[in-house]
Amino acid sequence: MTSETCPNCDTPLNGQYCSNYGQRQGRYDQVFTQLIGEALGDLFRPDARVTKTLFKYVILATVYFSLCLMALLANFIWQVTAL
Ligand SMILES: [Zn+2]
Repeated sequence: MTSETCPNCDTPLNGQYCSNYGQRQGRYDQVFTQLIGEALGDLFRPDARVTKTLFKYVILATVYFSLCLMALLANFIWQVTAL
C-alpha cells in the first residue's frame, strides 16, 4: 500500500488534502481556465460569505433608496397640495 505525502511538508495525505494544514493536492496539473472557473465558483457559490454580504447590502441599499424616494414623493405631494 502506497501512501501519498504532501510535497510541501511530507505529512501523509488525507484524501486530496494535507492533514497538516489542509492544502488540496493535485491542483498543479489543472488548466488555467479551470483554476479561474474554480476561483469564480468558490466566490459566487450560494453559501459563500461574499454572496451573503453582497445580498445583505443590496437589501440595505434597496430599503435606503426606497425610503429616499418615499421622502421625495411625500415632499413633492406636500408642495403641490400646499399651493
Ligand atoms: Zn502539507
